[in-house]
Amino acid sequence: MPPNRSNLDLSDSDYDEEVDVDDYDGGRKHTGKTKGKELPKNRDMGLGGKDGYSWEATYTRTWDAVQEDEGGSLQNAVEDLLARGRRRRLLAPTGAIRRTIIRHLVILIDLSSSMLDRDMRPTRFDLTLQYTREFIVEWFDQNPLGQVGIIGMRGGLGEKIGDMTGNPQEILKTISDRDKLLPDGEPSLQNALEMARSSMNHLPAHSSREVLILFGSLTTCDPGNIHDTVQAAISDKVRVSVVALAAEMKICRDLCNKTGGAFGVALNEGHYRDLLFEAIPPPAQRANPSTGGSALSSNPSSDLLIMGFPTRIPESSAPSLCVCHSELKRHGYLCPRCLAKLCDVPTDCDICGLMIVSSPHLARSYHHLFPVKPYQARTTIADAAPETCGGCSLAFPVPRVTLSDGSASGVSPVGRYGCPDCQKDFCSDCDEFVHSVLHVCPGCS
Ligand SMILES: [Zn+2]
Ligand SMILES: [Zn+2]
Ligand SMILES: [Zn+2]
Ligand SMILES: [Zn+2]
Repeated sequence: MPPNRSNLDLSDSDYDEEVDVDDYDGGRKHTGKTKGKELPKNRDMGLGGKDGYSWEATYTRTWDAVQEDEGGSLQNAVEDLLARGRRRRLLAPTGAIRRTIIRHLVILIDLSSSMLDRDMRPTRFDLTLQYTREFIVEWFDQNPLGQVGIIGMRGGLGEKIGDMTGNPQEILKTISDRDKLLPDGEPSLQNALEMARSSMNHLPAHSSREVLILFGSLTTCDPGNIHDTVQAAISDKVRVSVVALAAEMKICRDLCNKTGGAFGVALNEGHYRDLLFEAIPPPAQRANPSTGGSALSSNPSSDLLIMGFPTRIPESSAPSLCVCHSELKRHGYLCPRCLAKLCDVPTDCDICGLMIVSSPHLARSYHHLFPVKPYQARTTIADAAPETCGGCSLAFPVPRVTLSDGSASGVSPVGRYGCPDCQKDFCSDCDEFVHSVLHVCPGCS
């Protein structure tokens, strides 16, 4: 275990006792490149910390994990679990990090027969589809200027499931039909990677090229030498991350290490979701040693980028043809440069190639660069502390003594979380809301 893990690890001190450290350790990387990847941030961890690899489990007795209080009520136990789950996230670095806000991501989904395994319930396949849907919604919420495409790996081939688009609804539609995606045959990492790489070939230098592989199989069936593909991915600056569902494969680990991506093996359902959702914040841009990295990291050069803010055409206007689908529509957006009519923003204008964004999109992307500092869990109530939350103005909960080891897991025993800048106290709900949705501290602004 890296020593820093105990500092970062907020939630599961009882966890390591259950899992062989070496075994468990093999599942993630140590370079520290992907902060948080080492953490087994299991959602179900609060349920007694009995989680190992899901294939190790025989059956689960979730009802044993929840303890009644003296009055026979479960409410406190449930609130406790919720608070822990919330505090488990982030503690992200708050310094200035250079991040890409115009992202392009291709999700490679393993659709081989190994995805029918039931070690994750209901099956790896169904769980993957469900998590992918949640992931896409959340990803677009956090990265409104990004685009996502989906490729499946099935029958030894790469299969394009969804073209790269900036519209989450379109992507969700492509994976909504479960029967079209039924797993079959062997996966081919090489074929799928080549397909993903070629679909991102045309992208300009300022956008990121990322591949996220959800891999359930322990084999890959490739037509050629996959190491050539890895080299090609490196030279194209494609960042590959893998979430493995079965066990670590050397080629997957190598792929991630060499391209600067993150690698993780999911222990169980909750851990799978956490690993997947760690791919949502934009990766920090790292200096590339082969291209004079030291100069770049000390004084990053800034490239200016042309963007256009479109004019919105209201629903009440006369219908006209859009340039993207050639359909008659009333509403839409006008490209400020060539006045072509587009259906949706953000996008690239089909006529003149100008990048069209709306200003709210741009503003939403901005928070990754200046995140709100994590609130500190208060352990005691100061004398002059207000009675109500600084965010929602509701009264704070009455402190409970039953909350065991609360401070160790980052949960405040008095239900108060203080902003380090404005020193105001917020409730646990507001803490969650400010950091995951609002991205602005209501006390500071
Ligand atoms: Zn259109
Ligand atoms: Zn245009
Ligand atoms: Zn509140
Ligand atoms: Zn504040």
